Amino acid sequence: MLDVLMVPPDKKIDLKKDYDPGFTGKWMKKEEAEKTLAEGIQILSEMQDKLWAQNQYAVLIILQALDAAGKDGTIKHVMSGVNPQGVDVHSFKVPSSEELDHDYLWRNFKALPSRGRIGIFNRSYYEEVLVVRVHPEFLANQQLPPDLKDEHIWSRRFEEINNFEKYLVNNGIIVVKFFLYVSKDVQKERFLERTLMPEKNWKFSAADIKERAFWDDYIAAYEDMFNHTSTEWAPGTLCLPITNGSRGWPWEPFSTTR
Ligand code: AMP
Ligand code: MG
Repeated sequence: MLDVLMVPPDKKIDLKKDYDPGFTGKWMKKEEAEKTLAEGIQILSEMQDKLWAQNQYAVLIILQALDAAGKDGTIKHVMSGVNPQGVDVHSFKVPSSEELDHDYLWRNFKALPSRGRIGIFNRSYYEEVLVVRVHPEFLANQQLPPDLKDEHIWSRRFEEINNFEKYLVNNGIIVVKFFLYVSKDVQKERFLERTLMPEKNWKFSAADIKERAFWDDYIAAYEDMFNHTSTEWAPGTLCLPITNGSRGWPWEPFSTTR
């Protein structure tokens, strides 16, 4: 699986051509995947005990995705079997004014897992080359000296991110990065579901619809990000379990007449 899903460090990828958001690997049915998930959680739980007992390494899991791809659901399902005492989940939102008064890695540094622990970043410093790139007003709002807001800022940030991750790995913090690849059609279905099903209304935000209009810009920013930040020490992994394809799994097609 990893061979198929991993973005190789020295390859230029084309998300649309090289990866299929409907890919489900060898799992053809939801029940089969649930069995593998249960086995995986068992292994994860045993390894977490060792991680904790050893108290030398830490694991940093980074989740990036477009809206409605399933970051929260992934955290809920995958981490359901691990000991909550050893896990820290951190969600990164639009930076506060205090955060904007610091360099962009500052808030990420503060949220790093200590040795023996698993840290999950629900979004991360990668937003600094994604949403901030797609919406120049976010960069305008950052308290950077104007001459540092030049056209080379993105390549500098890629370099900074790679160096930061090398630093983490060299200090025993294992970096594992996931991108949940949702298709534009499935995102639409999920938004509809969120608006139409009362129990899912809370997940819906009108801002999500606005962001959807920037789909192509986001894909381009993600591609550039993959092409510059998949390194030997912290390779980028594409995680593609989100399908509404012909097999109808794991996403159950939603009928708007319900
Ligand atoms: P959510 O994950 O739905 O709670 O939304 C969080 C929002 O914060 C998303 O729209 C992100 O794009 C945004 N966000 C996260 N990090 C940054 C950042 N560094 N600069 C600007 N917006 C950000
Ligand atoms: Mg959201």
